[in-house]
Amino acid sequence: MVEILTEGEYEYMLAAGKIVAEVLTAMRTAVKPGVSTLELDKLAYDIILSHNATPSFLNYGTPPFPGSICASVNDAVVHGIPSSKVILKDGDIISVDVGAYINGYHGDAARTFAVGNVDKKVLLLIERTKQSFFEGLKYCREGYRVGDISHAVQEYAESFGYGVVKPLTGHGIGHNLHQDPDVPNYGRAGRGHRITNGMGICVEPMINLGTDDVVMLDDEWTIATADGKPSAHYENTILITANGPILTTIEEDANV
Ligand code: MG
Repeated sequence: MVEILTEGEYEYMLAAGKIVAEVLTAMRTAVKPGVSTLELDKLAYDIILSHNATPSFLNYGTPPFPGSICASVNDAVVHGIPSSKVILKDGDIISVDVGAYINGYHGDAARTFAVGNVDKKVLLLIERTKQSFFEGLKYCREGYRVGDISHAVQEYAESFGYGVVKPLTGHGIGHNLHQDPDVPNYGRAGRGHRITNGMGICVEPMINLGTDDVVMLDDEWTIATADGKPSAHYENTILITANGPILTTIEEDANV
């Protein structure tokens, strides 16, 4: 079932999203060579708890996810488990995905950060993955369909020869972290669920430098590229409103 939020509920979605944005802002500074992904997880946990919110990802799913963030380094696409053994080094990239739950509503967003000096073609991958989100955002308005968003993301990303990850999708969000409808990063324009005001959705392109093939690692969570090449991720929680889309999770200093 697709949840339609009332205007009175928007402020709760905004409150959850604001906490997520604060974590992302803190991550941008904290990500550097020598830092472990477990340290980043602790930082996110502390920020979320300081607002009397709950980390949406902690203990989510089966087996229960053990972190407050997903920390996916280099060829890890999504769902990387924070670890004291994963220490960032110059030239890495890391995708941080984080969710916060407060007053019955969730916010969920992801960014990929460069660690120190990163290869130009990988920096371009990060930038274009972000832009593919904004290509999809153009269709996050009442009257369009989910397929319009999906198609826009896919067309932009594939124009550079990148692999668009298909088994994992964006999703509806509101009272639940993941709810209807699925929002794939590929598809046909004019198809799929109709977008209406009051919907909360997460658009989250996962884009590979190489092929779109992915594998699950033995930890039963981490999804990695099959060819070992890097992958980038960009996500925001979007409220569809009569005044256009609102990104609840965008950082205050973001230039959008
Ligand atoms: Mg998500």
